[in-house]
Amino acid sequence: MILPILQYGDPILRVKGKRIEEINDRIRELAANMIESMHAAHGVGLAAQQIGEALQLTVLDISAAEDRPSTLKLDGNEVDPKSAMPLVLINPEIELRGETEVGLEGCLSFPEITADIERAQSVTVRAETLEGGTIQIEAGGFLARAIQHEHDHLDGILFIDRMRSAAKAALSSRLKRLQKETKRGIRHREALVSETTL
Ligand code: ZN
Repeated sequence: MILPILQYGDPILRVKGKRIEEINDRIRELAANMIESMHAAHGVGLAAQQIGEALQLTVLDISAAEDRPSTLKLDGNEVDPKSAMPLVLINPEIELRGETEVGLEGCLSFPEITADIERAQSVTVRAETLEGGTIQIEAGGFLARAIQHEHDHLDGILFIDRMRSAAKAALSSRLKRLQKETKRGIRHREALVSETTL
């Protein structure tokens, strides 16, 4: 099922995700719906907050990003990153490695907005899987960037928080407009709910 993706201005995007204690059918269904929604929106990653659930759960698929190379080791074994997609990370713990580099990022919660963001070149992640085990991921390049972006979402951090101040200032009126539209949408939804519950 394709879920609506929440946009900037929705307060849930700022909520730190709760740890998932049990991987049950609800979590499996949520992850499947998030993968479907991410693909439908042509995104490379989607965090639970973006579909209205403040949980430590994110999905990624960088296989369509042909021009932005990635490296991946799963439990110490080098694999073709594409072969491991989509990735589902539950309760991920991240360590940033190496130098930083600046690269272009967008976000499904910020339509048509992109900016250069400084990120670590590689990351090590320990996460739980849908099968109930744990995996150790060493990622480099674009995948490392995507993982850092999604991991930030799980802490309620958005890519605008990491933009250089001049870039953010240049976007300020667009961001305000987006925030206003989102708030109007939320009020509209709430009004519909209270009408139907009367
Ligand atoms: Zn995002």
